[in-house]
Amino acid sequence: ATNGNAGTKRTVLAEPRGFCAGVVRAIAMVERALDIHGPPVYVRKEIVHNRHVVAGLRRRGARFVDSEEDVPEGAVCVFSAHGVSPLVRANAAGRGLRVIDATCPLVSRVHQHARRGARDGRLVLLVGHADHEETQGTRGEAPDRTIVIETAADVDRLDLPADTPVTYLTQTTLSVDETAGVIERIRARFTDVAAPGADTICYASQNRQNGVKSLARRCDLILVVGARNSSNSLRMVDVAREAGTRAHLVPDVSEFDEAWLRGATSVGVSSGASVPDVLVERLVDRLAALGYGDITTDVTSVEDVDFAMPSSLAAGPGRAG
Ligand code: SF4
Repeated sequence: ATNGNAGTKRTVLAEPRGFCAGVVRAIAMVERALDIHGPPVYVRKEIVHNRHVVAGLRRRGARFVDSEEDVPEGAVCVFSAHGVSPLVRANAAGRGLRVIDATCPLVSRVHQHARRGARDGRLVLLVGHADHEETQGTRGEAPDRTIVIETAADVDRLDLPADTPVTYLTQTTLSVDETAGVIERIRARFTDVAAPGADTICYASQNRQNGVKSLARRCDLILVVGARNSSNSLRMVDVAREAGTRAHLVPDVSEFDEAWLRGATSVGVSSGASVPDVLVERLVDRLAALGYGDITTDVTSVEDVDFAMPSSLAAGPGRAG
């Protein structure tokens, strides 16, 4: 029973958006570690790529460090959702750190594929961004047998015989369409290619990209709330633009530019997997204040994925028996 008025300015919210199961679990693990061990709890790298989340945990006593080398010996150290290389694990063990591993289970699965590929004597072609933490961690599983591939052109540049046994993997947060092109090129370039079994792009990235594609069909402008170093958020902007719609990344509402609204009747809003919904709410409030107060939701899938916490953190202290 809403309007049928074509001229009404409106906001369309993508559903699902925001937090994925891996992010929910990683944040909960830092909170539980703080409850159990008390502050300070050290966290290697941003637990997830969102300043708002990091600031909230810092207020509660989490200390964010760049390297396991920066953690005092014997202290509690959480590894971020993006995963770490075996070298980082070894360093942490050497320092006697009490490690809590918040690596997303879907990232761990990619690591497993990388190990298996290398063990089978294959060269691992890791499709991803070389400077992203996840890629660095995965690459560390078999650094001598892994090549990071960013674009299809990188595949053409590989100076290797066509019958080199290879396997490929993708960073979990890439764009499905983009990687399809690279994988096609790998298959054309090499004769002995082992596929990873299932696609290694994660369900959350895929669902958020599908949501943006759907928004692109009904909106003149798409705003993706997400951090500049958030791979999955950046890919959502790419997907919107590839679908022919104007799109911008909005790290938070202070970076939203009213000029973007010029000529837009309907604005689509979504958010990356590391974004708390409060950041989306602030943007939606701002849009409403600017006349885009007719708010609807565009549901493209229903997510019921839930990753359990390790048993050492799952039960409250003293609850046994
Ligand atoms: Fe895991 Fe995907 Fe979330 Fe990354 S975006 S933490 S891979 S579920």
